[in-house]
Amino acid sequence: MSRHEQKTAKESAELMYVKCAACGKWIDVKPGEMNKVSHGICPACYQKEMAKWKGPPPTEQPR
Ligand SMILES: [Zn+2]
Repeated sequence: MSRHEQKTAKESAELMYVKCAACGKWIDVKPGEMNKVSHGICPACYQKEMAKWKGPPPTEQPR
């Protein structure tokens, strides 16, 4: 997945903020729609969520 989007060297005041929906940490700020806050998930929380869906970690298994 490589994108070659060469934007002009002009700085845009329109920034989109990306916040982690799980821990509330700011993940990213990128040019986009003005003052828009987008929710995503940070790598750390993503890993946690994935682990949750896979079931409990082996160390916490009963017996
Ligand atoms: Zn997070």
